[in-house]
Amino acid sequence: MTAGPAGLSGGSPVVVVGGGVVGLCTAYYLARAGVPVEVVERRALGSGASRGNAGWVCLSHSTPVPAPGVVRYALRSLGRPDSPLYLRPLPDPAFVRWLWRFWRSSTPAAFRHGYTAVAELNRDTFDLFDGLRETGVDTTLTRPGMVHAFLSPAEARHHLAVQREMADGRYPLPDDIVAGDEARLLDQALSPRVRAAYLVEGEGVVDPEAFSRGLGAALAGLGVKVHENAEVTGFRSAGGRVVALTTTQGDMPCAALVVAAGMRSAHLLGRLGCRLPLQAGKGYSFSVDLDPAPRHTLYFGERRAVASPIGGTTRIGGTMELSGNNNRLDWRRVVAVALASRHYLGRWFDDPDDLVGLIRDPWVGGRPFLPDGLPVIDRVPGHANAFAATGHGMLGVTLGPATGHHLTDYIVTGDRPAPLTPFSFDRLHR
Ligand SMILES: Cc1cc2nc3c(=O)[nH]c(=O)nc-3n(C[C@H](O)[C@H](O)[C@H](O)COP(=O)(O)OP(=O)(O)OC[C@H]3O[C@@H](n4cnc5c(N)ncnc54)[C@H](O)[C@@H]3O)c2cc1C
Repeated sequence: MTAGPAGLSGGSPVVVVGGGVVGLCTAYYLARAGVPVEVVERRALGSGASRGNAGWVCLSHSTPVPAPGVVRYALRSLGRPDSPLYLRPLPDPAFVRWLWRFWRSSTPAAFRHGYTAVAELNRDTFDLFDGLRETGVDTTLTRPGMVHAFLSPAEARHHLAVQREMADGRYPLPDDIVAGDEARLLDQALSPRVRAAYLVEGEGVVDPEAFSRGLGAALAGLGVKVHENAEVTGFRSAGGRVVALTTTQGDMPCAALVVAAGMRSAHLLGRLGCRLPLQAGKGYSFSVDLDPAPRHTLYFGERRAVASPIGGTTRIGGTMELSGNNNRLDWRRVVAVALASRHYLGRWFDDPDDLVGLIRDPWVGGRPFLPDGLPVIDRVPGHANAFAATGHGMLGVTLGPATGHHLTDYIVTGDRPAPLTPFSFDRLHR
């Protein structure tokens, strides 16, 4: 191991704050590089947004959320809790500033820039997942492919055209959609209401809880100490370096620090004097046994909901709710996701009141979102040995390994790898 400008020599470990998929992947690559690492997690590993998500590992959804037209769409959703994108106005200046910057990021040029940056970071994702498996991590990755299903052929054609343009040859897409009665044949679970669909082959899915467990087991095998039920409350710095973390289990000295605390990252970075404009984009999911069950991951185009085959059952998820950094579950949103899925999966329930008995594990998770929809994976300004990896929005599972891989490179060598350039703190303060 070389001691780059992060100054990793000396007896203390690099401490990763946050045992979600991003923190765990980072800890794993650091440990594989021979760096002493410890992980601090306020609850249990994989208990945050990394738990009940849809598990997609995919190249065809590298889209930043602030896309052209999205603000108009969000404004139409005001006060409508059944809308896929739901905005509950908050009397908080930080929230209003965030929305303003989100709007400013939804131009075609910013969208294209963001898409390209994420697609480049995503380029080696499947190789990295293969590498994790080969070194003994139980990733649970399978690659059944993703069916994009639509109620209208025009919408499907539009979606495929945008994807083709953005993909720019980075991954294979079909030449055309399948329209009419044959569309539903792409997956046995689709209903006759689906009038157009296309399959993106090779797209993957993991069982997210099991993936976190697999990373945790691999870390244990590498001798990484994991402190669960330990909350980081602050830091001690000296000479522009963080020298220790204060936690509910006492102080921990560190050679370097990685903040990967999901939607709580902004609060922690604030303790380092760094303002991060981060809001939770809350999403919901639940599991249900369907017959027939989907074999592919499914994207329900018009309603922006999803279904994934996970752990022998079907996980249905969706919605993007901007209502503050919290994990408050709004049952109306669960019902909205279930109703949205019925257009594509058929009438798997009659009365929303029956859902209580039909579904398992209703769940809400706060996706960490920055206003331009891109993560920040960078050194914290003003601190030679503090780094942040958060803001992965809709794509934390997909981008976890790429983030951990490149960030390890950065920490160990002191040189920022080229794929991380678009994910700097600088761009947020311009
Ligand atoms: C409904 C839904 C579906 C999704 N589907 C997909 C998908 O299919 N594919 C995909 O790639 N992404 C998906 N995502 C997004 C993905 O879940 C997130 O991007 C990802 O989980 C973020 O991981 P993370 O490690 O940054 O955050 P988290 O998983 O939230 O981890 C952060 C951890 O930090 C801990 N922590 C916070 N503060 C402290 C502190 N002070 N001290 C110690 N520990 C602390 C938390 O307890 C938490 O465990 C989905 C999200 C949702 C909500």
